[in-house]
Amino acid sequence: MTDQNSEELKNEDFDMSIFDDDMDDDIINQVDDHLANVHLQTPERPFKKSLISAPPEDDQVFLLRLFYQRFFPYKTYFNWLNYGLDISKNFTHREFSFTLPSDIYIRYNSFANIDVMKKEIERLQPIKIDIGAVYTVKPKDKKTVNEKVFKPLEKELVFDIDMTDYDEIRTCCSGGDICNKCWTFMTIAIKVIDAALREDFGFKHLLWVYSGRRGVHCWVSDERARKLDNESRKAIVGFLEVIKGGAEVSRKVKLPYILHPSLNRSLEIVKMYFGSLVLGEQEVLDTPESWNKVLDFINDADIKNDLNDQWNESPSRSGIDKWQDLRNELERKKRPDRESVARDLIFQYTYPRLDDKVSVQINHLLKSPFCVHPKTQRVCVPINPEVCEKFDPLAVPTLSKLSEELNTYDAKDHNDSDRKIPDYKKTSLRPYIEIFEKFVNNLIIEKQREKRDDAQTSMEF
Ligand SMILES: [Zn+2]
Repeated sequence: MTDQNSEELKNEDFDMSIFDDDMDDDIINQVDDHLANVHLQTPERPFKKSLISAPPEDDQVFLLRLFYQRFFPYKTYFNWLNYGLDISKNFTHREFSFTLPSDIYIRYNSFANIDVMKKEIERLQPIKIDIGAVYTVKPKDKKTVNEKVFKPLEKELVFDIDMTDYDEIRTCCSGGDICNKCWTFMTIAIKVIDAALREDFGFKHLLWVYSGRRGVHCWVSDERARKLDNESRKAIVGFLEVIKGGAEVSRKVKLPYILHPSLNRSLEIVKMYFGSLVLGEQEVLDTPESWNKVLDFINDADIKNDLNDQWNESPSRSGIDKWQDLRNELERKKRPDRESVARDLIFQYTYPRLDDKVSVQINHLLKSPFCVHPKTQRVCVPINPEVCEKFDPLAVPTLSKLSEELNTYDAKDHNDSDRKIPDYKKTSLRPYIEIFEKFVNNLIIEKQREKRDDAQTSMEF
């Protein structure tokens, strides 16, 4: 399992463009071979009260099977992606991609209804499910139509923010690792992007999800967002993007002196965290190595040398004090751009880094909520943006925790009505499913209201 996990991680951010049609055929051929063995790899086993006796070598397979049978919120998931109670093309023409345990991708799955999908998930036991676009033709019938006919029509506007893009500014962890200190960067990202999407673009139906390891996703599910073409998606990302990743330059943020009101609002948010997170916990002014990165941003040899000397003489001065030294130095040198340099520095060290290729292509796949991350075994759970500062990624339930909680519950005596309680309510998965249900209910209520209004309008005329 370990090898497969490390492969899967490499594939986590995979680019759609690696999947050309030839590759699809190869994949499909491999899958046929693989499927013959699926049942051998996932033996049937009764779950109730026998979980502890599962042999360790089968643990991951066994737990994933348990998850798909007893925890995955199929009904709510269907109501979300179907966007209404009556079955529609929103669901039947939607692409789902599965990654199987041996790292085989099966793209262009689509399902007539949620029961068919559930059966297929339980049969294949995918270690990852990705959601793609809604197409003109059922994705599973792709091969039967002319490729010019097969076009993506709609998909949620999605955002992917990954902690590895913060490696240049965080000092506590790097790569795939996260801790509660650097997670605050994700809290800031959620607050900034959530406010912009609601207040600047008027979107209402935003589902924020923890990716299971080191980042967050946002699914903007308003009908207006789902119908956006690639150009409009690009324009929105361009509007939100302040930091261009990639090139190794010391100053990545250079904003106009007068900020757009949207960025002023973002600045108010990020300023609340800059002192405690960047100067405090991340200690960016505590060592010459990291304070020199900050001083390089200012691009003024005099200021850099003066502050470097000053801080080397008293390196234990607090980050907050050193930040004040920097502000004083800019003031003393009468730099005309002194206000905007300090402000842009704050942006560079706090503002969300967006993975724009995920957002701008309508047919780009993104990992589904309620997958289980194969490395961490954590469930990809929704986050309530209103209280995202309380979200603790390290406390998100893992598969083994859920199975223990279920065992503990089932081992106790319960009356008949207790036994009918859905399994997720017996575990720490409950609050996350409730966030998801609330999000989906709001979508359905709006849809029903529109239907009623449409019916009334047609009666009036
Ligand atoms: Zn960290």
